[in-house]
Amino acid sequence: MKASKPQATIIGAGCIGISCAVHLQAEGFDVTVIDRVPPGEGCSFGNAGGVVPSSVLPDFHSGVLRKLPGWLLDPLGPLSIRWRHLPKALPWMLKAARNTMPSVARSIIEGKAALSLRVLSDFDIIMQMTGTANLLNKVDGIRLFDTEEQFASEEGERRIRREFGIDQRKIAAAELRELEPEIAPDFACGTWYDVWYHLTNPATFVARMTETLVRNGGTLVRDDVVSAHHDGNRAVKLVLREAGELGIENLVVAAGAYSDLIARQLGSKVMLEAERGYHLTIPNPGVQINRTLTWAACHGAMTPMDVGLRLAGTDEFAGVDAPPNWNRATILWQTFRRVLPGLRPLDDSVSKWMGRRPGTPDSLPYIGPSAKLTNVWYAFGHGHLGLTWGPTTGRLISELMVGKPSNIALAPYRIDRF
Ligand SMILES: Cc1cc2nc3c(=O)[nH]c(=O)nc-3n(C[C@H](O)[C@H](O)[C@H](O)COP(=O)(O)OP(=O)(O)OC[C@H]3O[C@@H](n4cnc5c(N)ncnc54)[C@H](O)[C@@H]3O)c2cc1C
Repeated sequence: MKASKPQATIIGAGCIGISCAVHLQAEGFDVTVIDRVPPGEGCSFGNAGGVVPSSVLPDFHSGVLRKLPGWLLDPLGPLSIRWRHLPKALPWMLKAARNTMPSVARSIIEGKAALSLRVLSDFDIIMQMTGTANLLNKVDGIRLFDTEEQFASEEGERRIRREFGIDQRKIAAAELRELEPEIAPDFACGTWYDVWYHLTNPATFVARMTETLVRNGGTLVRDDVVSAHHDGNRAVKLVLREAGELGIENLVVAAGAYSDLIARQLGSKVMLEAERGYHLTIPNPGVQINRTLTWAACHGAMTPMDVGLRLAGTDEFAGVDAPPNWNRATILWQTFRRVLPGLRPLDDSVSKWMGRRPGTPDSLPYIGPSAKLTNVWYAFGHGHLGLTWGPTTGRLISELMVGKPSNIALAPYRIDRF
């Protein structure tokens, strides 16, 4: 008689959940992914598309802290808090503020680097498994500086990156203009990222990985997980809004910014905030850029995609369910027109979008087993880098679930670290 396959149920069909699903299927699991929206239509839909292994600094570091007061006073600045939400977000923010202490910052940097240094090889693996290699544009991005002083002010950050082999070579003004003729003529200089590659469409990436998963026998369930239940040291069932009870053998929680609700029901209290970001995608933008561009004066990125030019970024703390503030999307156009003066005006063809980054206070994701239940694994909290870390997370979770040794020490990503 043929032995039946082990089963894995995954909550969340974003870039994290689907990457876990693809790897678990390859390890011989019978995989079911549950999501209330179609695959890739959560936060993974409209991000900046950046595959950014060079991002090793904490999201809240001393450089950010210096700019914070100015940002907070400006309601349309790169970082905003809806004051009603402050009491709930405060413990998270106080923890995040600790990142500026040198010893804490150092361990975060090492935790980010350990993941990031595996990103490109893990992308190659999953892209080969799912036939998606043509979606990754391996052209490095550029960071722009208005003045030499602004360039010098980031030297400390570049020095840290160099320790991890990330060489952010300076680009002189004349070379900048040759590389990107449509940027404003008065930028003083730039740097290469080493590396900031981009996907030509992050939603297509998740959709195409899902096609492979389903073609190979995986199951997609469109439903809402209302609750998760455990008995003793095992998770035993989920309750779905439409389908009712669903028994589980092994569970992966990859529900993005909503994962804390499920984790709590399974006995793990975690710190998670929705760090809400916005995008504008402008078809026929009137300008052409050849790579992702960022500008040191603001938070966000300009990425050429198959659907137009995407302007994405900003960070808003307002709670997961608060309505979007579309002015925060529009501000991206006002900001980035300084970089691309030929950018055409906004009209109805421009798409506006808001996504909820699942943010942790230390900018590190939760990747690993439950500290309470023997058949539950967590894969969420990837904040600003979920697309970048998705394939690596999928590999690590599948290795953990089959008991293979990992090439990364996983302690920094423990679910019970706070
Ligand atoms: C403006 C912006 C720009 C960004 N740019 C980049 C970038 O350039 N590079 C990068 O690496 N990252 C970027 N990110 C971050 C990245 O998009 C996220 O980290 C990533 O998408 C998180 O993936 P996820 O799978 O955890 O979450 P999601 O994609 O949100 O997936 C979680 C899924 O779980 C489902 N779900 C939740 N609860 C339930 C439930 N109870 N029942 C059923 N389904 C449920 C949701 O519907 C959702 O589909 C950006 C984010 C934003 C907002």
